[in-house]
This record gives sequence, structure tokens and C-alpha cells, in this order.
Amino acid sequence: MHFASTRGQSDSVGFSEAVAQGLAPDGGLYLPEKFPDLSASIGQWEDLSYPELCFEFLRLFATDLEADVLRRAIDHSYSAFSHPQIAPIVELSGNCKILELFHGPTLAFKDFALQLLGNLYEHQISRTGKNLTILGATSGDTGAAAISGLIGKRGVTVFILYPNGKVSPLQERQMTCTGASNVFPLAIEGTFDDAQSTVKELFSDLPFRKKVGLSAVNSINLARILAQSVYYLYAWLRLGRSERECTTFVVPTGNFGNVFAGWLLTKMGIAIRGFRVATNQNDVLHRLFHTGEYSLESVVPSLAPSMDIQVASNFERLLFFIFDGDAGRVREVMNSFREKGRYCFENFAAKGFSSSSATDREIPEIIRSVNREYGYLVDPHTACGFKDLPSDEKHLVLATAHPAKFPDVYENAGMEKPTSPILQELLEKTPVKYDSRVAPSAIRAFVENNSSLTSE
Ligand SMILES: *Cc1c(COP(=O)(O)O)cnc(C)c1O
Repeated sequence: MHFASTRGQSDSVGFSEAVAQGLAPDGGLYLPEKFPDLSASIGQWEDLSYPELCFEFLRLFATDLEADVLRRAIDHSYSAFSHPQIAPIVELSGNCKILELFHGPTLAFKDFALQLLGNLYEHQISRTGKNLTILGATSGDTGAAAISGLIGKRGVTVFILYPNGKVSPLQERQMTCTGASNVFPLAIEGTFDDAQSTVKELFSDLPFRKKVGLSAVNSINLARILAQSVYYLYAWLRLGRSERECTTFVVPTGNFGNVFAGWLLTKMGIAIRGFRVATNQNDVLHRLFHTGEYSLESVVPSLAPSMDIQVASNFERLLFFIFDGDAGRVREVMNSFREKGRYCFENFAAKGFSSSSATDREIPEIIRSVNREYGYLVDPHTACGFKDLPSDEKHLVLATAHPAKFPDVYENAGMEKPTSPILQELLEKTPVKYDSRVAPSAIRAFVENNSSLTSE
């Protein structure tokens, strides 16, 4: 299986190469050149455990990995999860179910992909003898999950940029209290988007990329998308047969990564009714789906910080399909968007998507009302999924984080603070972080001085 760039100006590559590169050299994102049809296999996959299903699915894409390598990486990754079903479904009512994606080591859905990515990198390094430098930007959870997946992995050095003071104190502790010598959390002055644009700029510096063996763990990485498709499939298989085709997946999203991972299944013969794109007050995607205008606005920090994003990087992947694979048009839109900060689509039609946006005033109200109605505590990100949810249709809401990651939100709403033993332990550790300017030159120098370069 080969993977091509959405911008059409890079050679297509195999799975391992696409994963190692993250971003394609032409600045685009990798997508499978063609899609397997799952409709024939799906009947035999109903009773598979999560790791078994993950293996059957991913081996269709990771054709350049030996089966036992892939299987071991998967088994290792999901053994770090605390729930036997890995991604359990909780029924709130006849029409509303929750898919709990927070049983991984950092209590957010990003562990699904990043535990696996860490194990795939480890294999790649032992196979090629080339060290890797991981550089990423985070609004909180990606950094924590990436670091957790890469702690102590030989030959990998991790640099994570995050906006100082704009991630939750616990998220910051998850990144800074690892005690690992291969991990460098960099607190920058600026927003997540500032951090992200520095990372993007450094990725476009090809000599630097080569020198330090740069790879991305951001949600643009193909492995992240494909690993996330698995829990949609797993959940879909667990819905009753009659429910499958009439259930809408509700996805709290910022970067469009998670929801795109689910949508990809519709390209593989899986009938899913639709996807509801649930944003917080940073509503670039909600506006896009309602008006056809994709436009940049400044980020307003919210109670759901992992969705405080205004550039939804993975939207470029959907765009590629909207334009029927015309990479020239994707380039045109992305260039125009970069220059003007906005792009207006004529007759924007993204079939199968609906959207919503929840403000910071609404999030605590929703948390309270879901708790009152169903006796279930949602985290502030998951809460966005409940905004204006039509009660007469079937929904599966993805719970993207454990509420204990955001204790202040509950305290301020006059509720009891949720806790988790994993987070409790963090409070006893000593944080280590590096303050930095966000300028690409400053970050480049820091990375060069601290990466373990492969001697050639
Ligand atoms: C990252 C994150 C999101 C948004 O995911 P996208 O891939 O940007 O759509 C939502 N909720 C939580 C808890 C997250 O960590």
C-alpha cells in the first residue's frame, strides 16, 4: 500500500516512510492511494478483541511491516490501557451512548495513536539504526500522550512546544514530571497556533529535518489517523446491527483529526449515518460547515483547551476528497488560506457532516445537565458534543478525556472535583520545563543542541 501527499508534489511512499516523515516534503498530508473494501471482512471481525481488530485493520495499510512486528507493537500499546475493553461503550439512554476513549495512560483519546506510534518508532530505529527527533506542538493532550508514548525509547528525543499558561496545570504536569532524559517540554510565549506554525516552519527546513531526523507526532501523522479509525470500527461493530446505520458519531474536535479518522471508514464500505463536528467557542469548523467559509480568527482560550485551535490541519485531507483528488486545487486553497487567512468555498457540500459549537458559558451547564439526566460525568471537551443534540436521533458521543484532567471546571461549577489515581501520583513529582521564545531560530538551536544525532 502506498500513500500520496494531498498536495501532489511529493513521491508516494510506503507506510513506515509516511509515518517517519509525518508531513510530506511538499507540505501536504499523506493519504492512502486506494482504500481496502472492508464490507466482506467485517462479518468475521465482530468478535475480535480491540488489539486483534486493530491488527486486522492496520495490516491492510502497514504492508511494509512484518505481521509479528505490527502485532507486537499493537499488543504492547494497548496493554497500557486500564479497561479490559480498551474503548468501552456506556449507554446513557435509548438514543445516546458514550464511547469512552480515556482509559489510556494519559487519560485522553490521543493515547490510542501515540502509544502505538511510540512502539512503531522504536522498531523503525532498531531497523534503520537512525535516531529520530520528535517535534510537536500541543494545546495539552497531544504533548502528554506523545511524551507518554515515547518516554525512555532508545534513539528518540522528544521536543514538545506548548503555550505557557494555556494548558491545564495537570496537563502540564503530565508533560513535565516524567523524569525522562529524552523528553524536553518547551513552554513558549504565545498561543498553540504560534507553536504549531513554528513547528510547521521547521518541518519545511529540509536540511534541518534531515540533520536531526525530524518526525511529527501531531495529528497530521498518518499513523495517528489510521490508529484512530480503529475505535470507530470497534464501536460500530458493537452497536446492534439495526443501530449501525442510523447512529451518528459525535466528535469533539479541534484539528479535525479525530473526526476525519472516523469518516475514512465510509471510504472503505462501512455505512455510517453521519458525523457531528462538535467545537468549543473556537468554532472555525462549525462556521465552515454552516457557511462554507474557512477563516482564521484569534484563539480564545476555553474550558476545553485541547480544542483551542483555529487552523484545523486535517481539514486538508477532507478537502482532497471534496475536490475528487485534485491536488492542484488543494494547493490553491491552502496557499490562498495561508496568505489571506480565509477561503470561501462556493457551494460547500460536505455530505454526512453536521456541526455545533459550545461556549464557555454553556460547557458547565451541559456538564451539570448530563450529570443530572444520566448520572454521568463528562469532561469539558466531551460536553461540547452534547450541545443541541437532537434527542430523537441515535448518537454515539466520543468521550475524549477523563473529567479528572480538568478539576477546576467542576470546582468552579460548584461540583465535586473528579479524581484519578494516575493524576494524583503526578502531584508528588518535580516538574522540569524549558522556557523558550517561539521563534523558529530559537527552537531550531535548542533542538540541535539537545537531540541525539546519528553519527554518520
Ligand atoms: C486533542 C483533543 C481533542 C481534539 O482532537 P482533534 O484531533 O483535534 O480533533 C478533543 N478532546 C480532547 C480531550 C483532546 O485531547
